[in-house]
Amino acid sequence: MKTPHPIVIAIDGTSASGKSTNAKLVARALGYVYVDTGAMYRTLAWHCLLKHADVNDAKAVAAACRKWKTKLECAENDGLRSVRLLVDGYFPEKEIRMPQTAAAVAHVAAVPAVRKWMKETQRNCIQFGNLVMEGRDIGTNVFPETDFKFYLDATLAERTARRTADGVNENLAARDQRDSQRAVAPLMIALGAKVINNSSMTSAQTSGWLLEEIRKIMSAPK
Ligand code: C5P
Repeated sequence: MKTPHPIVIAIDGTSASGKSTNAKLVARALGYVYVDTGAMYRTLAWHCLLKHADVNDAKAVAAACRKWKTKLECAENDGLRSVRLLVDGYFPEKEIRMPQTAAAVAHVAAVPAVRKWMKETQRNCIQFGNLVMEGRDIGTNVFPETDFKFYLDATLAERTARRTADGVNENLAARDQRDSQRAVAPLMIALGAKVINNSSMTSAQTSGWLLEEIRKIMSAPK
C-alpha cells in the first residue's frame, strides 16, 4: 500500500500575532508535530553572534550557515511533539529568546543562502510525520503545495502589548518591516491562505477557528 504524504499545516504571520501559541494548540489537538521555523533562524543568529560573524555581512553569515554542524530531532514534552534544531548537539532554547538574538535575526534571515538552507531543512521535517509549521514563508515558499495555509495578524498595539506581557520589549514594527521587505521569500499572505486578525480574540477562539477551517478543508471534495 502507498504511504500517504504527510499533511503540513502552514501558519504564517507577523511577529507576536499568536502563531506559536495557536500552532501548538492545533498540533496538540490533531496529534501533529509542531515546528517553530523562527527558532531555527534565531538559532543561526545566535550561532553567528557566538562565532563573532558579522550579521550585517551576508558573506560571513552564509559561510557560518555552510559550516555549522546541525541535527534535527523530534522531542516530546508534556504530550506535544516538536522539532528542534541542534547545533553541535545543543538546543539553545533560552539564548534564542535574548534581545541580542532578536535584534540580529531578521538580518540573518534576509541572506539568500540561509533561506535556501532553511527551506531544505524545514522540508526535511516531514520525516517526523504530519506537521503544524509556523513562520513567515511556509505557505508561500517552504510548502507552497499544501492545501492548509493560514495567515495570522493583529494590530501593532495588541502585538506589542502581548510581548510586553511576556516581559519582552522589542520594536516589532522594525522586524516586520525587514521581514516584509527582503528580496527573498518576504513575509506575505500566500495565495489561497485564510487570513484572520485575532486582535480581540483569545487563543482558544483563534485555535478553534483554525481547527474548524482545517476540518472544512479536510472534508472538502478534491
Ligand atoms: O517567529 P519568530 O519571531 O521567532 O521569528 C524570528 C525571525 O525569524 C523573524 O522575524 C524572521 O526574520 C525570521 N523568520 C523568517 N522566516 C520564517 C520564520 C522566521 O524569515 N519562516
